[in-house]
Amino acid sequence: MEGRNMKASEAMRLGAMLSGQAFGLLEASDGRTCAMGALRKAVGLPVRGMSKLERWSTQARLKRQFPILAMTPEAFCPGCRLQVFEGVVLVDLIVHLNNDDRWSRERIADLVQKYEERAAAVSRPTESDNCPSTEELVAAL
Ligand SMILES: [Zn+2]
Repeated sequence: MEGRNMKASEAMRLGAMLSGQAFGLLEASDGRTCAMGALRKAVGLPVRGMSKLERWSTQARLKRQFPILAMTPEAFCPGCRLQVFEGVVLVDLIVHLNNDDRWSRERIADLVQKYEERAAAVSRPTESDNCPSTEELVAAL
């Protein structure tokens, strides 16, 4: 797995191998991590000792590195079927599935992988480094 091309789901699985699961915080004092903590650790981002601003800016960096995290998820949570509010992105759903629905990080990674495969299927026709236009994306649906 090359760091630059590693997918979010792969990074999450890799990080999950390092320690047990934590709920409600990126990393517990004993090293357990939540789904996003596992992903952060796998790509070398801090998981502790951050100010709120640092946390947000590293989250923005993660969304740039893994655009899938900023995707709009399905209308209902696959864990508890709760309606997903407008403006919620995949990273928010990941946090909810970890903390509230207590999904394992591996199960969450499987879900993220589904989104990655769907996104890859949409962008496949272009085959270039250019981002597909909205029209191309809509046409591919
Ligand atoms: Zn849920």
